[in-house]
Amino acid sequence: MDEVRAQERLVEWFGDVCQDVHGRLAALTDGEPASYIPELANVDPDRFAIATVAVNGQPTLLGDHEHRFTIQSISKLLLYGLALETHGRDQVLRRAGVAPTGDPFNAIELDDALHRAPNPMVNSGAIAITDMVDGDSFEERADVVLALFERYLGHRPDVDDAVCASEYSTGHRNRAIGYLLLDQGIIGDRVEETLDLYFMQCSILITTADLAMIGATIANNGVHPVTGERVVGPKVARDMLTVALTCGMYDYAGEWAYTVGIPAKSGVGGGIVGMIPGVGGIAVFSPRLDEHGNSVRGIRVFEELSQEFDLHVFDADQPWNP
Ligand code: GLN
Repeated sequence: MDEVRAQERLVEWFGDVCQDVHGRLAALTDGEPASYIPELANVDPDRFAIATVAVNGQPTLLGDHEHRFTIQSISKLLLYGLALETHGRDQVLRRAGVAPTGDPFNAIELDDALHRAPNPMVNSGAIAITDMVDGDSFEERADVVLALFERYLGHRPDVDDAVCASEYSTGHRNRAIGYLLLDQGIIGDRVEETLDLYFMQCSILITTADLAMIGATIANNGVHPVTGERVVGPKVARDMLTVALTCGMYDYAGEWAYTVGIPAKSGVGGGIVGMIPGVGGIAVFSPRLDEHGNSVRGIRVFEELSQEFDLHVFDADQPWNP
């Protein structure tokens, strides 16, 4: 069997297994949708989608893959890539390190010794990174963020204005973090504007298919599998994957790396995106969350796929690389 046919067989097999997993895990109803942002509680908790996109662009789409939801914390990974691309590693590392915290994503904490946020996937680091988005006004900077998403998605995304307003009116903790960053001289004094931008980036609407495309782009060394556009450089993609593996799943990151072993990022909207370097992106959407803020079904899907296909990055015998 030639290599192309082998690849096709593998994608078919993957599709079949995803279908089976999707069918079985629909019965899993543990967890609750996020409610700390009131508008997020207004979701149908039963929604469930799995999507994969291989680095050659081939998709597998299951369940509610066309349903749009807010990207939430997954946006932190994309903004991190943008900051690295625009300002370089040194500038970025001055604001946020790469140390997993083991603490909740919204912990009010800084790395006091190094005078920076612990990592870019917790809110303190993410807000410090969002502050790096260039532009002279909110509108200009929002345009930079939306243009970034456009390169990943292949189309301009919409923002869920109701979720954004809800984040704005209840985001006191993020505001506290923003002002702590200002007090410490880590960010400049346009704190409110940067917070508005952060609330907006969290409220960007995506489908599970979009999310898999984002994953496939990062897994493909930063090149979009369908448009062929380079979204980030290969070294930036590598840094994004590393931070996703060590810090992407909130305070569950260590267990995730141990049991699933796929660089991934989750959001409280119920999305999780995983990247298999050189192979593709996997995305799951299901709004019921566990105590860490990760999608319950999402975790199970990744656990099962990782086991079935030996997808852990440290598995020696991945079928993808015969
Ligand atoms: N907008 C959310 C917040 O900052 C994002 C959190 C998340 O997905 N963990 O609270």
